[in-house]
Amino acid sequence: MPMDTSVYESPYSDPEELKNKKLFLKRENLLMADIELGCGNFGSVRQGVYRMRKKQIDVAIKVLKQSTEKADKDEMMREAQIMHQLDNPYIVRLIGVCQAEALMLVMEMAGGGPLHKFLAGRKEEIPVSNVAELLHQVSMGMKYLEEKNFVHRDLAARNVLLVNRHYAKISDFGLSKALGADDSYYTARSAGKWPLKWYAPECINFRKFSSRSDVWSYGVTMWEAFSYGQKPYKAGKMKGPEVMAFIEQGKRMECPPECPPEMYKLMSDCWTYKWEDRPDFAAVEQRMRTYYYSLASKAEEPGACANGVEAACP
Ligand code: ADP
Ligand code: MG
Repeated sequence: MPMDTSVYESPYSDPEELKNKKLFLKRENLLMADIELGCGNFGSVRQGVYRMRKKQIDVAIKVLKQSTEKADKDEMMREAQIMHQLDNPYIVRLIGVCQAEALMLVMEMAGGGPLHKFLAGRKEEIPVSNVAELLHQVSMGMKYLEEKNFVHRDLAARNVLLVNRHYAKISDFGLSKALGADDSYYTARSAGKWPLKWYAPECINFRKFSSRSDVWSYGVTMWEAFSYGQKPYKAGKMKGPEVMAFIEQGKRMECPPECPPEMYKLMSDCWTYKWEDRPDFAAVEQRMRTYYYSLASKAEEPGACANGVEAACP
């Protein structure tokens, strides 16, 4: 299914299009519609179309708000520089940057919205196998990031965007870092506006970020998905410092009602206190794959539920 979409491969995988590839795009080739896809601190994300040599593609345009300080521009350019180095089917690709009426980050379109919103209130409609399928795709994207030595630092269901119900992509590289060739972690100079409930203990205690701390966040993302879009840690009622104390006491979130035991075991392993003892994304991806494929093959057995893998029969 992902393979049949226009966003599985980069638009620049065509050598003809690659000839024109530049980080900075011409404004005249960018058409911006009056449709807002989302918003954040930086400004808004709008729908648009980008004209290439041979085709036009749908794009999402992150527009930096007006009256902007240089620091914000620099931050958005850093996000663009990170995304520019990535090319994977399970990661939102950057098409380029456009400096015109505002600084704009032009990305491929993932119009299905964020994962937690997609799942909220749809337990009856979306089987566990579909959730596992999407989470497996996220693990493939994260395994790629780990191999490239990038840390995401903001992996959460809100930053997993859907292309359609069977295709997810990782987005929002606003906090991401490229690690040095010999480094396995990044040390933040100071604590900032951080998504504490998604952060591993070493991030909070020592400001150390690695692929293993992304694995912790992946565990929280799994919990959000298998609880069909609930907010982590008592529906969001626990505050950051409370969550930290909870974790330090060795406590962890409970298994969501619909979550299969294999998947709860995996998220619990993602929440291993010591980062050295946590699985890496190579291991996480393998376990997600094994589990998802086991559901898919069960559904194909004769006598399995009529609607196949859609109905993850218990
Ligand atoms: P922030 O850094 O403020 O969290 P995001 O990059 O997460 O910004 O984008 C905010 C919202 O904009 C997303 O939740 C989503 O709804 C929308 N959005 C961002 N990128 C895309 C995209 N590539 N395709 C479709 N919608 C997008
Ligand atoms: Mg975001």
